[in-house]
Amino acid sequence: MTSIQHWINGAGTPGVASRTGPVFNPATGTQQADVVLADPADVDTAVTAAAKAFESWGDSSLTQRQRVMFAFRELLVRHEDELARLISAEHGKVIDDARGEIVRGREVVEYACGIAEALKGSFSDQVSSGVDVHSLRQPLGVCAGITPFNFPIMVPLWMHPMAIATGNTFVLKPSERDPSASNFVAELYAEAGLPDGVFNVVHGDRTAVDAILDHPGVAAVSFVGSTPIARYVHERGTASGKRVQALGGAKNHAVVLPDADLEFAADHLTAAAYGSAGQRCMAVSVGVAVGDAGDDLVDVLARKANEITVGPGDAPGTDMGPVVTAEARRRVIDAVRSGAEQGADVVVDGRELTVPGHEDGFFVGPSLLDKVTPEMDAYQQEIFGPVLSVARTGTVDEAIELINNNPYGNGTAIFTGDGHAARRFGREVSVGMIGVNVPIPVPMSYYSFGGWKDSLIGDSPIHGPEGVRFYTRNKVITSRWPHTSRTSGAAFHFPTTS
Ligand code: NAD
Repeated sequence: MTSIQHWINGAGTPGVASRTGPVFNPATGTQQADVVLADPADVDTAVTAAAKAFESWGDSSLTQRQRVMFAFRELLVRHEDELARLISAEHGKVIDDARGEIVRGREVVEYACGIAEALKGSFSDQVSSGVDVHSLRQPLGVCAGITPFNFPIMVPLWMHPMAIATGNTFVLKPSERDPSASNFVAELYAEAGLPDGVFNVVHGDRTAVDAILDHPGVAAVSFVGSTPIARYVHERGTASGKRVQALGGAKNHAVVLPDADLEFAADHLTAAAYGSAGQRCMAVSVGVAVGDAGDDLVDVLARKANEITVGPGDAPGTDMGPVVTAEARRRVIDAVRSGAEQGADVVVDGRELTVPGHEDGFFVGPSLLDKVTPEMDAYQQEIFGPVLSVARTGTVDEAIELINNNPYGNGTAIFTGDGHAARRFGREVSVGMIGVNVPIPVPMSYYSFGGWKDSLIGDSPIHGPEGVRFYTRNKVITSRWPHTSRTSGAAFHFPTTS
């Protein structure tokens, strides 16, 4: 069986820990590898290597950093196929979907290729007689990333290219469920010319996370995952004096107004609800049918859900793969059962689905629940699986109220041809990322990504301009270059301009 190791200071290493965790193939349900799980000593080795590398990388030229990013970007293109297969084999998602996350992650590298522009400081000439002021942003030191299973390449790519291009070094602790993509990325960085120790990968579970959060050599932590862990990471990391950005879970609503093109809206809701087996933080998990849109919308959604081909992620023609673990499968089945028990209509029931030849795989079919209300567990939980709930409201105002009462605020969408309603929706919902006739409004890399409320703990969205800000500190330098030795003597009042 393959053993997946850490990557520290430019080489693979098993570290000192004796613990390992299983890595499954979700399509067969069998264990295909084990991954080493770090002890605090392994985290310390990685942080020490990163701190040493920071001594020179923190001082490297912008040109050097950009050249590495350009080379890294080319390697991501060249190895897209291999990488997509690696992701699919451990996560379970369809190969084309894996390609999609590689492309969206690569866009952050493309932004980082232009870091010289994004990192420009400012200059004010002659703020006082003979005095100028300029500001610059400097790297923090060793930064760490802790990432979820559902985007094993894209979410880490939201972090490390930004951290490294701004002059930091990095320790990544990816999800222990699909760890291989991170080691692959480490090898691509090495091939791109990144010096040893600038990018390190430490595999592990809570023990590794705690060691990162408590390590005095780590300056900043970027976290993406579920809300309870985001909150924990934020509290523990900031308590030990670190800068922390922590993105959490979601419950994303897509509102469909009666005037919307129902086929168009249903196509997008179906793809956004069941793509990647619903395991996206921007998945649409609640359709909100306004006015008399409900019955027709549910009919079209049911037809489309029943047309989805479920199978292994690498099989041609598959629309939706398995969920990531047996436990995730059970959670999805329980959510549908509880929805039914609490009064929802189970219009499409994916609980009994089996895929011939893959009976032990973690498959569960698409489910569609109708007449879901906010009191139901199926509405309150982040199911994180292929379940679309439909709630009904009488008006757009009620739809906005429903969304605003939800504790999460990651993404939302509205489907309508009514510009006034769309504009009001955009202004009034308390959600960070909003789509108008766009179901998964993941911002481009030159904007930043981040939800509101329980979907983001702390105040820092990720990548783009916010990423530059997060991974650097501002410095303001006020300068005077006197050209004579004349002085008017010491002045003891608070300095003012003249
Ligand atoms: P998770 O919270 O279980 O794990 C995320 C990371 O935290 C992993 O690296 C894991 O090893 C670590 N971790 C898990 N339990 C821990 C604990 N008790 N103490 C310390 N560390 C711990 O999340 P997941 O199941 O891997 O991913 C799915 C979740 O991530 C969903 O809630 C999804 O909405 C969220 N997510 C959010 C975004 C976003 O941008 N807001 C993006 C992707 C995923």
